[in-house]
Amino acid sequence: MEEWPDGEWKVRMLNGSSSTKNYRCPGCDQEIRGGQPHLVAWPNWTGGDEERRHWHTACWRKRLDRGPGRSRY
Ligand SMILES: [Zn+2]
Repeated sequence: MEEWPDGEWKVRMLNGSSSTKNYRCPGCDQEIRGGQPHLVAWPNWTGGDEERRHWHTACWRKRLDRGPGRSRY
């Protein structure tokens, strides 16, 4: 669990070895290739379980630096 200015988020690190699926990172809009370590995060509030997102670890860390006008995901 991590605390952010926009609320509490559950974060799970994935080493990538368990998945060969590609995901799109909402932080940089680039693909996360299957097998690449990354993380999955979802909000710790009602309905948050449906908002799971896969992120590059670095993009998650700086997601609130991207300024206003961006989706908060
Ligand atoms: Zn990214």
